[in-house]
Amino acid sequence: MTTLKRVDVHVEGIVQGVGFRPFVYSLANRLGLAGRVRNDVNGVHIEVEGAHAGVAEFLTALERDAPALSEIERVTVVSGEPAGHSGFTIATSDPSGPHRALVSADTATCDDCLRELADPADRRHRYPFINCTNCGPRFTIVRGVPYDRPRTTMAGYGMCDDCAREYHDPGDRRFHAQPTCCPACGPRLRLRDARGVDLCGDPVSCAATLLRAGRVVAVKGLGGYHLAVTASDERAVATLRGRKHREEKPFAVMAADLTQARRLCEIDDAAAALLTSRARPIVLLPRRRDTPAARVAPSVAPAGRHLGLMLPYTPLHHLLLAELAEPIVLTSGNVSDEPIAYEDADALTRLGGIADAFLVHDRAIHTRTDDSVVRPGSGEVTVLRRARGYAPEPLALRRPAPRPVLGCGAALKSTFCLLHGRRAFVSHHLGDLENYDTLRAYAESIDHYRDLFGIRPELIAHDLHPDYLSTRHALQQTGVEHVGVQHHHAHIASCLADNGDPGPVIGVAFDGLGHGPDGTLWGGEFLRADLTGYERLGHLAQVPMPGGAAAIRQPWRMTAAYLRDDRPGLDVAARNAERWPAVLQLAASGLNSPLTSSAGRLFDAVSALLGIRDTITYEGQAAIELEQRADTSETGVYAAAITTSGRSDGGPFVVEGGDLVRAAADDLAAGIDPAVIAGRFHNGVAAAISRSCVALRQATGLTAVALSGGVFQNALLLERTVQRLRAAGFRVLKHVRVPPNDGGISLGQAAVAAARDRS
Ligand SMILES: [Zn+2]
Ligand SMILES: [Zn+2]
Repeated sequence: MTTLKRVDVHVEGIVQGVGFRPFVYSLANRLGLAGRVRNDVNGVHIEVEGAHAGVAEFLTALERDAPALSEIERVTVVSGEPAGHSGFTIATSDPSGPHRALVSADTATCDDCLRELADPADRRHRYPFINCTNCGPRFTIVRGVPYDRPRTTMAGYGMCDDCAREYHDPGDRRFHAQPTCCPACGPRLRLRDARGVDLCGDPVSCAATLLRAGRVVAVKGLGGYHLAVTASDERAVATLRGRKHREEKPFAVMAADLTQARRLCEIDDAAAALLTSRARPIVLLPRRRDTPAARVAPSVAPAGRHLGLMLPYTPLHHLLLAELAEPIVLTSGNVSDEPIAYEDADALTRLGGIADAFLVHDRAIHTRTDDSVVRPGSGEVTVLRRARGYAPEPLALRRPAPRPVLGCGAALKSTFCLLHGRRAFVSHHLGDLENYDTLRAYAESIDHYRDLFGIRPELIAHDLHPDYLSTRHALQQTGVEHVGVQHHHAHIASCLADNGDPGPVIGVAFDGLGHGPDGTLWGGEFLRADLTGYERLGHLAQVPMPGGAAAIRQPWRMTAAYLRDDRPGLDVAARNAERWPAVLQLAASGLNSPLTSSAGRLFDAVSALLGIRDTITYEGQAAIELEQRADTSETGVYAAAITTSGRSDGGPFVVEGGDLVRAAADDLAAGIDPAVIAGRFHNGVAAAISRSCVALRQATGLTAVALSGGVFQNALLLERTVQRLRAAGFRVLKHVRVPPNDGGISLGQAAVAAARDRS
């Protein structure tokens, strides 16, 4: 019997670009083992041999002590005959075969790098591109796999001797850090004016001076350009709004650190953990009531009790914020709803009329990625936009897909999802597909993900709406099976997949609009659903949308549709007196007034009724501002009738949303504060959902409820609904890893296609 043992170990998961090979190398050396480690297209392959005890300890420590950024999905161990390796080496990558390795998300600058950044004695002192195996750009600079420097946008930078030495030294924390660089060999920072002419002096200090003087500075970040102004400077913020053609949608703010952030918002431990997480998303937080108005200009977030706050995630952000010593507005570099600019020449063209100066560098961005947005709740997090810092890391699903699937998503807040085995690669947020640039980015990103992860979809899932560009894109693909998935079924399936739950559940899908198979617009749906199918058990009562899409942009039209002319003397009618009678007539006639059961339109109707928002400048604005105005201490509840009358066929029951609007109108006429009315309305919707679910439990025996759809981005509604459902004894599924809005639809579509493929 030999005294030596040899094993071949294959590790799958996020194990490339996260310091895994150096970790294996030092582990093997510490245990006196021989062999080699290399990246291959499936992950990391290790051959290791030595004493039995050493090999056993190696296998234990491999998973126990794996690097912070790694995520091991599977370890396969095969025993073999010792090959007589002397010493342990890191072998070159094997780029052959189908690609299965994972690419990690971009990661905020780590503490070790920050220490060097601030250390005058360090050769990377104040170098804006400092990074290491634990931090820095990843997904946004990757062109292909395996993840190695030649397949990133750092390919053109030859390492200087010092960087090369660190890169090849297994004991160094930059050992095989692909984007590593220094002032001698790496990218450079420049400050340019709007015509592209270099401005002299230190770029960071000059940019800070310009910001202090009220100027707009474009800053090239990880996934694209941002536009910055000093957050306390009302004139500068108003200027930025005007030039960007962004009238009211709140801007995000970047603070230098938690101390500075705490001066602006209420930050508990959960919020602090999110703010300082390696993903560094924008975190929606309650503003401090005692904050002097001077700290954040009124135009930053005009109607909100909340502020979107983030902390620096690149060395450049850290340098700039330290220099300024006060928070900045940092908003996506685009005009209105266009995609964020990420290519230098394009940025100069598109942002030239907005920014007074450009803080730029010559490390190219390969994939445009927006900032992610999250909201901490009572113990849980809701992801509202999943992008930088999260994508393209896959979500693990409960059951594997028999064949690879592409889910094409919807139209707004679009994403796609590639599903392979148990891994769901939900793309970063791509935006509104009605925009040509976004559509192009969408198609290119699908190709990029397919190549990166080596997935060739055999099933393509899409929405039933024939005019969505995502549906058209799906139907253009040949040689694959097409799977149509109803919009609200996809929402509920997304919530099931998000929670690793197969269903069946009572699915409550409340959103703006989605194509219903009966030809009407759905959006306030109660479904019996699992991953393969659904049945519509109930919905909000249908109302006409007078003028179709015009009713989305002008919520007051929905007030008219709900109240008709049986509430004379309404302020909302007086404010819109010129068109009110015509809109009433339009609604009554049914001409150009499609019927909808949309929950979003119900919220719109109440928002306009209360004088909060008659017309909107961005999607969901009326409902968002209604929530922001609501008195959260209000416990009163409006009642909505739940009726099955006229449904002797056992068809879906109907929740009379109009009852809630009429109750609100009565209270308004009685002089009740709109904030109180908004509170009672939210409570009323939550109560109607809960009562409907209780009735459905009696009819179906189902005891779990899944909540999905954009309306559940409303934190107050979500909280009140969950409270009532739990009190009624339900198990409640909420979104965790993907957004409740249409950004989660692609995951749901893919999960449905896979489940149907299994059955
Ligand atoms: Zn680092
Ligand atoms: Zn260097």
